[in-house]
Amino acid sequence: MWLGRTALAMISVEEALSKILDFVKVLEKEEKPLLDCLGQVLAEDVYSFFDVPPQDNSAMDGYAVQSKSIAGATYEHPRILRVVGEVAAGCVSDLKVGTGTAVRIMTGAFVPHGADVVVPFEDTDEVDRKQASTSRDEIGVRVDLPDGSNIRRRGEDIAKGELVLKPGRLLCPAEIGVLASLGKSTVPVIRRPLVGILATGNEVSEIDQHLPPGKIYNSNSYSLAAQVISYGGVPKLLGVARDEVGQLTTAIRHGFDCDMLVTSGGVSLGDYDVVKQVLAAEGDISFWTVRMKPGKPLAFGILERSDGKKIPHLGLPGNPVSSMITFELFARPAIFKMMGRSDLAKPNITAVMEDSVENGDGRRIFARVAVSKRNGKYYASTTGPQGSGILTSMMKANGLAIIPETTKRVKPGNHVEVMMLAWDSVGICEKDR
Ligand code: AMP
Ligand code: MG
Repeated sequence: MWLGRTALAMISVEEALSKILDFVKVLEKEEKPLLDCLGQVLAEDVYSFFDVPPQDNSAMDGYAVQSKSIAGATYEHPRILRVVGEVAAGCVSDLKVGTGTAVRIMTGAFVPHGADVVVPFEDTDEVDRKQASTSRDEIGVRVDLPDGSNIRRRGEDIAKGELVLKPGRLLCPAEIGVLASLGKSTVPVIRRPLVGILATGNEVSEIDQHLPPGKIYNSNSYSLAAQVISYGGVPKLLGVARDEVGQLTTAIRHGFDCDMLVTSGGVSLGDYDVVKQVLAAEGDISFWTVRMKPGKPLAFGILERSDGKKIPHLGLPGNPVSSMITFELFARPAIFKMMGRSDLAKPNITAVMEDSVENGDGRRIFARVAVSKRNGKYYASTTGPQGSGILTSMMKANGLAIIPETTKRVKPGNHVEVMMLAWDSVGICEKDR
């Protein structure tokens, strides 16, 4: 039901987020090639059906021997052992090591039966023998090493039968590597959401067109789609719809195969804001004024297809910065929830503010800041003018300083909470500005 202009509710960021998350559900699982699963969440237990590594193997290039054969060996008094063969990585060998014998071995080769230690080449007289062209049937060992030295034990990484990864685990490069070590070429994961992105506004033009007078390029669809991709979703660009009921209705319906629809613009109180009317006709819609800056107007609704399928819709403000920040606060957690992630919040840090921020009207300010680390402390400085049309300020920011509703002014030296957007750039933005 469309609540209409008079019933606009003023709600907190938390209320808005919890209403959105209440509706959004974890998506189904799918089996996919391993590498495609990077950034997705595991959907089933993964057990190991074998030991990793599968056999004791050498951690060094050297000689596999029995530790008792080299007891007391020194540089001056090496133990001379008979070399009975050689084993390379990847080879299966039936060579055996007994008292007084050695097998030349390469890193990663399975340790021959009977050996309990690998002596690295550099602790033998191999090089001297080569230079002197003396017999290679023998080797002099110059160190006394304890049992197990330079041997990677069977199952020391993962034991047969072990529960290695549980459902809910986010698959990062290390998890992908571990799954590969278990021979998993495909993996069951929660599928990525398809997120429809629709820009609205008569003044908004597609980026591959010559810019007509009175128009601006559609930056929102691209920043939002890039956010979708960077958080693991799949964007579906639905183009730009004019502020006109027919076109908007058609464009929104093109997004009916999506798991979520994100629109930008048309949710403020402007005269041409037909988005509300269209959304009200297509489903159940609420308009909120969220106590935040930038990004006050926000719409959230449930679009209903003719077959009854319900699609959550987030109507973000049109201002380029507002749309990116409201995406960060409301769409990103929704995408994460759909993907089965449990870490819905971004990490916050405490930083020392380097300049002032005024908070005139009791909203929660998300100020674009560049965070840097100096002498073990985080410092945050605003990225210049904070107008919500200044999109380049988002390029300079690696965090959003959160100025609470009740704080009228933050002064240089005050501590603020900063929601980190990008860790990689801590310390870089500061000097780039
Ligand atoms: P609105 O929320 O529709 O009133 O739009 C607010 C401001 O954002 C206006 O100045 C618009 O021109 C601008 N805007 C809206 N949509 C886009 C877009 N897709 N790309 C860039 N700017 C936009
Ligand atoms: Mg508009």
